[in-house]
Amino acid sequence: MDSRQPRTILIAGAGIAGLTAALAFAARGFHVELFERARKFEEVGAGIQLSPNATRILGKLGVLDALVGATAPQAVVLRDGASLRELARVPLGKAAEARWKAPYLVAQRADLQRALIDRAADHPHIRLTSGSTVAEIAFESQGVKATVDRDGHMEEAAGMLLVAADGVWSSLRCLVKGSRDSRPSGKMAWRSLVETASPAGQDLAALAPSDRVTAFLNPALHLVAYPLRGGATLNLVALMEGDMGAGSWTSEADARLLSRALSGFAPPLSTLAEIAGPWTAWPIHAVDLDGPWTDPRGLVLIGDAAHAMTPFAAQGAAMAIEDAYVLAALLAEHPHDLPSALARYEAVRRPRVRRVVRRGAFNHFTWHASGPIALARNLVLAARPPEKLAADFDWLYGWRPEGALK
Ligand SMILES: Cc1cc2nc3c(=O)[nH]c(=O)nc-3n(C[C@H](O)[C@H](O)[C@H](O)COP(=O)(O)OP(=O)(O)OC[C@H]3O[C@@H](n4cnc5c(N)ncnc54)[C@H](O)[C@@H]3O)c2cc1C
Repeated sequence: MDSRQPRTILIAGAGIAGLTAALAFAARGFHVELFERARKFEEVGAGIQLSPNATRILGKLGVLDALVGATAPQAVVLRDGASLRELARVPLGKAAEARWKAPYLVAQRADLQRALIDRAADHPHIRLTSGSTVAEIAFESQGVKATVDRDGHMEEAAGMLLVAADGVWSSLRCLVKGSRDSRPSGKMAWRSLVETASPAGQDLAALAPSDRVTAFLNPALHLVAYPLRGGATLNLVALMEGDMGAGSWTSEADARLLSRALSGFAPPLSTLAEIAGPWTAWPIHAVDLDGPWTDPRGLVLIGDAAHAMTPFAAQGAAMAIEDAYVLAALLAEHPHDLPSALARYEAVRRPRVRRVVRRGAFNHFTWHASGPIALARNLVLAARPPEKLAADFDWLYGWRPEGALK
């Protein structure tokens, strides 16, 4: 495998970050070698919300055209989990496209993954290899050399840069001197799918109709429901405090924990742990934002490898997509000055990601509020018309690369 070329980019990881990076680099004329540890290219989890800042880039890269089965919800609706009262409504659908110039979509993760892979597989400048783990790297005068483990058989690949898109559990992160390891956030996510035609689905659809994203707020937990497969399925995500104490949980104990957290909700939400399911649960890990993301000799972290975050703003994948696009644009702008391009990448991305993480922390604080804080929240939300609530997201959803990066 001799890929040593000045315009060759090596990428470790074919998640949303790595695949978007492959497409973004190839679109700028680079050659890409993308290595994925798993034998099959696949995405775990059920659904994903794709906000306009992400779909704008996916559109530019030709991925939206290949994304079958995505739907555009008409609104995000916040409801009190106990009283079921509607607290706020942010218009989406056509209003989102008009305001942010790109659609707000919900999709099955597998469909997004498939659209990304199909685009990448079709591109003459991208070589995808599964069952290949980037095990080691070495910096050389002309760039970086990666040792790739393919079923115990070691091969080498060389390029001008290695993009570590290897996720929250990144093993390559520690090669950036001073980087921070991921740590438990103290939050847990639960996910389930409910068929809309089932009795549980019909009860739920009355509260969370399939034309919108609905978030039910409660101090112990918040629950988000949105449609998949054209509304045939409701995707449920519940986020709560807690840790899973690695390996010490049985699924029975998990269900009891969820059940307890849902007890403050109105029926049928209060019985969701039993009537929906099966539920999968896992602890959320995050990466501290103060650590560096680059080594000027030819290594860069993107996506969850750089800045895994709690999903309270539903922006982890969107940030990965933005990272990938900005990085490729900067390399194309400074093809002969890698250190400057990487320094610029950190300078541009860090404040943006920091602001998104702050927004997630704000959502967590207000969505899980109780007592007077919850009352104040409800009053503020009731006083703000839907367009004003939408305007609060202009900085996030209306984002576009600046100047030469466009
Ligand atoms: C409950 C929940 C809900 C979420 N909802 C949303 C949402 O609605 N919207 C949103 O924008 N984000 C959401 N997110 C966040 C989003 O899922 C992640 O931020 C995103 O998937 C990260 O993508 P990634 O490519 O960086 O990492 P990953 O998807 O983890 O991909 C990393 C890949 O690297 C591979 N790999 C690892 N090590 C190596 C190696 N050494 N060599 C080669 N390959 C390797 C792995 O096999 C994997 O395929 C949510 C997260 C959670 C937990």
